[in-house]
Amino acid sequence: MSAEDRSIACAVTWRHDWAPHLFSFRTVRPDGIAFAPGQFVRIGLPGADGLVVWRAYSIASPATADHLEFYSIVVPDGPFTRPLSRCRVGDAIRVDPTVYGFLRTDRFDGGRHLWLLATGTGIAPFRSMLADPALRRRYEDIVLVHSVRRPAELAYRAEIEAMTGPLEGRARLHYVPTLTAAVDDEAPPSRGRITTLIGDGRLERSVGLDLSKEDSRLMVCGNPSMIREVRALLGERGMTPVRRETPGQYITENFW
Ligand SMILES: Cc1cc2nc3c(=O)[nH]c(=O)nc-3n(C[C@H](O)[C@H](O)[C@H](O)COP(=O)(O)OP(=O)(O)OC[C@H]3O[C@@H](n4cnc5c(N)ncnc54)[C@H](O)[C@@H]3O)c2cc1C
Repeated sequence: MSAEDRSIACAVTWRHDWAPHLFSFRTVRPDGIAFAPGQFVRIGLPGADGLVVWRAYSIASPATADHLEFYSIVVPDGPFTRPLSRCRVGDAIRVDPTVYGFLRTDRFDGGRHLWLLATGTGIAPFRSMLADPALRRRYEDIVLVHSVRRPAELAYRAEIEAMTGPLEGRARLHYVPTLTAAVDDEAPPSRGRITTLIGDGRLERSVGLDLSKEDSRLMVCGNPSMIREVRALLGERGMTPVRRETPGQYITENFW
């Protein structure tokens, strides 16, 4: 059966624009859809030729929420995001209820500190994870690093800042927003790419934790170049990716 045959038309129930090229939206949650935080579904809309265009989207809402939330880029002339950007409350989006994805913390063995490293919309699966009670019980510390160009692109910032410190459960949340474009802005976010913050030790110093093979488990999501470079940096520290047959320290997900 194709995605089209399986798919369900789901009404958009809410939309929030963070910046002209970034927005979040919710749809009705199809009956029976179950997912683990970090997983993704495929959503579809008619493209320029009338045929449905399908794209993978990480679910940004908690696994228990009564809706599905997504956080999207708008790519100039993007075959999917151009029609998506025109969606308003009441419009319908097709959701293929088959869930996919290996960005799941149950694939890790051990570890005390969970590091979630995202560029741009790569924060979407981590927003779902932050609401997961099992994750909060399992780790002592959760570090969320969100790298964007400008402050307006720090989606979910207020919500995440309100959660920092001890979470209900056990873990303590550290939030490290970081900007990569030169901006005149009030102080808080760090400056620099994730790889720079790891390479010069600023990331570890800012949260008071070491990135180590024994204690750290990492998830890295978003821009493929960032992911490639982070893999190399983690490799220098003796860390390896989680594979079916070998317990490693990190899991990655490229968005393109
Ligand atoms: C597992 C998985 C999960 C994904 N989850 C999300 C998500 O939660 N939110 C989301 O916005 N996208 C997500 N994507 C990307 C998404 O599937 C589409 O690629 C994106 O919506 C653009 O679609 P498009 O047809 O407009 O452009 P495409 O033709 O798909 O892409 C054109 C170009 O745009 C750039 N691009 C694509 N996606 C992004 C992005 N997210 N951020 C920055 N640049 C991008 C790349 O350079 C790409 O080559 C995910 C992809 C994968 C594989």
